[in-house]
Amino acid sequence: MADYQIPDELLGLPNVKAVSYQITSAERIEVCIESRLDAAVCPNCQRVSTQMHDTAEPQTLRDLAIWGRQCWLRYAPRRFACATYHRTFVERVAWREPGFAHTLRYAQQIYERTRHEDIAQVALDEGLSQDTVRGIFERWGKKRSTSAATHL
Ligand SMILES: [Zn+2]
Repeated sequence: MADYQIPDELLGLPNVKAVSYQITSAERIEVCIESRLDAAVCPNCQRVSTQMHDTAEPQTLRDLAIWGRQCWLRYAPRRFACATYHRTFVERVAWREPGFAHTLRYAQQIYERTRHEDIAQVALDEGLSQDTVRGIFERWGKKRSTSAATHL
């Protein structure tokens, strides 16, 4: 494959570098990404660790479409060693919806669509299950009403 890169500015995820990409079908592109940060914050003691331990299994996360193609990010979360408790932890990234196989911005886009469109139609267009789309609709709807309530 040719040595072309996707510029980080275009990818638009904070502290993330696009390492390579592959067009895997007429409708699909996969982009391999890496963190630019040399450190991570331990979720137990909130201290910064620069001691990388290893990387976890690569994951595939759905992201916003690129030029009409469905886009998937390939990403191997890194494990760091915590100096305080002598344990390891997996880094958390701000751009992923925690626990789900998609980015936050993707979930937000799906949520915006479900406010005006049929869940079945959105699922069909995006190649997602209706359960996934309904889950986003319900979680993000809750988030909205919670944040609206706290701003009263
Ligand atoms: Zn710790």
